[in-house]
Amino acid sequence: MKHNFGAGPGILPHEVFKQAAAGVLDFNGTGLSILEISHRSPEFEGVLDEAVKLVKELLEVPEGYSVLFLQGGASMQFAMVPYNLLPDGGKAAYLESGVWANKALKEAKYFGEVEIAATSKESNFTYIPKDFTIPADAAYFHITSNNTIYGTQLQKFFPSPIPVVADMSSDIFSRKINVADFGLIYAGAQKNMGPAGATLVIVKDEILGKSGRKIPAMLNYQTQIEGGSMYNTPPVFAIYVCMLTLNWLKSKGGVAEIEKENDAKARVLYEEIERNPIFKPVAATEDRSKMNVCFVVNNPEHEKPFLKLAEEKGIVGIKGHRSVGGFRASIYNALPITSVYVLIDAMQEFAEKNK
Ligand SMILES: *Cc1c(COP(=O)(O)O)cnc(C)c1O
Repeated sequence: MKHNFGAGPGILPHEVFKQAAAGVLDFNGTGLSILEISHRSPEFEGVLDEAVKLVKELLEVPEGYSVLFLQGGASMQFAMVPYNLLPDGGKAAYLESGVWANKALKEAKYFGEVEIAATSKESNFTYIPKDFTIPADAAYFHITSNNTIYGTQLQKFFPSPIPVVADMSSDIFSRKINVADFGLIYAGAQKNMGPAGATLVIVKDEILGKSGRKIPAMLNYQTQIEGGSMYNTPPVFAIYVCMLTLNWLKSKGGVAEIEKENDAKARVLYEEIERNPIFKPVAATEDRSKMNVCFVVNNPEHEKPFLKLAEEKGIVGIKGHRSVGGFRASIYNALPITSVYVLIDAMQEFAEKNK
């Protein structure tokens, strides 16, 4: 058995793999594969409706918001957000908390002025900047709720005089959020919600239609809302697997329950990193991510042998991102705490051998 700590595409529940596999062969007794049914069939419309309903239910999405399943990943949203929300000659504010935030703000520069409200670039993004003012004259304020590469996470969201746009690709559905605090939330599915190929967008309807810009249909939130995420052929299979994963989450008791499990997983792993003389954490204590746990070795010579030991134990995907080095254990919703204990055991065994 493998213990998948990969950062993305990440682990999904085993039951979901089984259901998805069954649906490929015979989707709900239709005698057809989910891969060959029409996206306009009542069967698939039922899947999409259910997925949207589950998003609304699990995140308690209030009235006045639209839920979309789009394509192009979070990276497409980097461009779509300013295309739709940043008026010509206007300004948008960004919190530069990592590589993804940086890529997002670069795209916004094609459409208007970008003000970096704060950055932690000087420390290679080991913390979340906190003392700054959000410019009230900007069209929106963009944040990354969880910095997948650096293992930092916003523990609190900033009160903002302007709509907040959040890239939640790597922590959506991992903890309770108040959707009403946001103008727009987006997330590529492949970290915590489903397979690659679908991107979730939750947008407050009233912030749209203000850019004064002509927008191509596919990149226009309004078109996508009017088409019910079916302006063109949607990513049928990816949406199906998202629906199955959200159903799994609901059956586990929803976001509040998974948040407790996620807290427990993160706590035991950080405790071991703190305690174990071989390793040390990367991120500032108060900003540590409960989804991507980054840590390094005190002695560089220990890096390769630990990776080898981990591999022998069936631990997969813990090599850190090249811009941070060391290790990154992604402990997404579907990763059981038993897998975290396997990693902790390996760390203890390694420390014992290298005393
Ligand atoms: C993975 C990731 C992205 C990139 O997502 P794509 O779907 O590959 O475009 C963007 N932002 C964050 C926070 C991520 O973790």
